[in-house]
Amino acid sequence: MKIALIAHDKKKKELVNFVLAYKSIFSGHQLYATGTTGEQVIDKVGVPVHRFQSGPLGGDQQIGAMIAENEMDIVIFFRDPLTAQPHEPDVSALLRLCDVYKIPLATNLAAAEVMIHGIERGDFQWREIVK
Ligand code: PGA
Repeated sequence: MKIALIAHDKKKKELVNFVLAYKSIFSGHQLYATGTTGEQVIDKVGVPVHRFQSGPLGGDQQIGAMIAENEMDIVIFFRDPLTAQPHEPDVSALLRLCDVYKIPLATNLAAAEVMIHGIERGDFQWREIVK
């Protein structure tokens, strides 16, 4: 599966620790990320990640473009709901595209926990059929 990883600044540590905790599962998938999130996951977890631009510089839109092309299977996006983001329109656009294309989306740790166990069980194999 192609999995997108994104975290706003105050959530990056949480996402890195999450990927570290489930490294054995994530290792079996193709990982994509916005620039800084990807850099930290590569540094601290040591798994290969395709890095896009940083979120505020268009990274969220690049992931959105993959969704529109049916090229992204899952999005894990740890949002910071308490801090204004300069690229809020891009964030909203990405979340919207997940809904348009029915892409499984986890926007916080609790939802991501459910999702990772689903990934492990193969619950998202239907994504292979809709390609
Ligand atoms: P970043 O982008 O990983 O480059 O920090 C994430 C975001 O803020 O959308």
